[in-house]
Amino acid sequence: MPTWKWKIKGIVDDITECGCCGRRGLKRTVAMMPLDADGNEDGTAEDVVYYGTSCAATALSWTQGKVTNTARAAQAERDQRDAYARRMLSIYAPVEFAPVRDKARVYYGRNQHQRDTGVKATEEVAKLLAQARATLADTTTGPARPARIEDFRRYVVIFTSDDRISLVRRVPEEEAEGQEQAAAAQRRADEIRGRLLVVAALDAESARDVAYSDDLTREWNAKVWQAARA
Ligand SMILES: [Zn+2]
Repeated sequence: MPTWKWKIKGIVDDITECGCCGRRGLKRTVAMMPLDADGNEDGTAEDVVYYGTSCAATALSWTQGKVTNTARAAQAERDQRDAYARRMLSIYAPVEFAPVRDKARVYYGRNQHQRDTGVKATEEVAKLLAQARATLADTTTGPARPARIEDFRRYVVIFTSDDRISLVRRVPEEEAEGQEQAAAAQRRADEIRGRLLVVAALDAESARDVAYSDDLTREWNAKVWQAARA
């Protein structure tokens, strides 16, 4: 008989039945991945079990408090990895099929210390995108998250006169509403003698990153978003 050891992967709201004792109607469950004898994760998202905190505590010989805290911390870490993945996709997915020259300029522009070190921009961009997509496709603690350029949304970003971001707002899908918002944003930018940009990204946080990036990154961002919508 193998001794099962577990690693807590996160906390899940939408699975409310304990995979151990079958108790239903739980507020949330704890996602746990089996570990092999050496303590390595032994499986994929399909092997993850969802236990109520009391059964998870028994399985791990921990207190329920420790289970809950660990699960919350694990979930926060996952959320951070998701946010990072969305940023990487928002920056680099638009240059994925750009000419190598442009891809290299975008990549080294953000990673100046890697210029002339033999690190190849094309390979790094491919790696970053693959990792980001895998992160958002991971279903351990919930359904897969949007990751395609078609999932990008437009954001209006207002900069102050000293080039700090003062406001980020999602542009409404509906055209009339969008125009109204654009006019209001322009007024606001004029008032503070700032400027505004419209960028496409997977979330508001990523939109800030795209807005702060160089002209070439933003050119590709606009071009590819338009093409995806055409
Ligand atoms: Zn249970």
